[in-house]
Amino acid sequence: MKIFVAGGAGYIGSGCTEFLLNNGYEVTVFDSLITGHRDAVDKRSEFIEGDLADRKLVRTVIKNGDFDGIMHFAAFSLVGESMTNPGKYFMNNNAHALNLLDAAVENNIKSFVFSSTAATFGVPEKMPITEDAQQHPINPYGESKLIFEKMLSWYNKIYGLKYTALRYFNAAGATEKFGEDHSPETHLIPLILQVPLGRRKSIKIFGDDYDTPDGTCLRDYIHILDLAQAHMLALDAPRSGHYNLGCGNGYSVKEIIEVARKVTGHPIPAEVEAKRSGDPAELIADSTLAKKELLWSPKYENVEDIISSAWEWFKKNPDGYSK
Ligand code: UDP
Repeated sequence: MKIFVAGGAGYIGSGCTEFLLNNGYEVTVFDSLITGHRDAVDKRSEFIEGDLADRKLVRTVIKNGDFDGIMHFAAFSLVGESMTNPGKYFMNNNAHALNLLDAAVENNIKSFVFSSTAATFGVPEKMPITEDAQQHPINPYGESKLIFEKMLSWYNKIYGLKYTALRYFNAAGATEKFGEDHSPETHLIPLILQVPLGRRKSIKIFGDDYDTPDGTCLRDYIHILDLAQAHMLALDAPRSGHYNLGCGNGYSVKEIIEVARKVTGHPIPAEVEAKRSGDPAELIADSTLAKKELLWSPKYENVEDIISSAWEWFKKNPDGYSK
């Protein structure tokens, strides 16, 4: 089986590419390297540097590639930036991604797997979050992902494109080769680990008066290799569908810092700051459906294992990928 991975030089796309290759798939990575890294492209894959905006290139590459499936990770993903520059998000995550969708239909691609997100739910009414929860995004990033889910659904109804939208909760951890290197970094675990790496003095806790047991936000952290497993299984899913992917456990910001102290042996000073706008108190997945229908079985449900894997990668790559 030959898979086209758009965004395979990014955090989750690189881990997924490695996982596919380890499981006998052939992979072509397509990435603009705007946010991705050349060194994050698994050397066993074919690499094409290109942008989804280039409709002609996208259509030519898909036409000539004889692919069995497409995985689409190539999106902008900074919530804060999407609030100040929404057009960047709708342009790339929707308008440009349409080129990939059209190419999939033109070439009768058997399976399209899309990186969606818990941010499509906004502030959910009920926890844990099931697939049928109302989707009311509270930022343009989440909205752009929801719009693409709807585009997929219409392409399914009209052209019969089979798709799977995987809504990740908090992607975390690393493989031995590939880890998290965002610029700027906004995610909790890599920021915490910058303290023992000597890259920052302390970690900021964004708000400690939420309605949660210790006052800090609860999130459901999911290892990138478990996300990768779900992508691979989705290629053979019998029907189109949407699935929430998380471990089903909520860890508070304070708990994550405490686990990182244990894993790294460093005191990791923390300071409470103002809340970050747009942060729901709690986001926890109900992944029963993915387990039942995709036969997904996450292997890294212990958050200490997730943080340890990230720590091992950062110790080897304290400044991330070479620039
Ligand atoms: N967070 C924090 N300090 C930081 C970065 C994040 O307290 O320096 C909190 C953030 O408010 C949220 C949780 O950590 O409650 C996870 O944030 P992250 O950005 O990693 O993922 P998100 O849940 O926003 O997708």
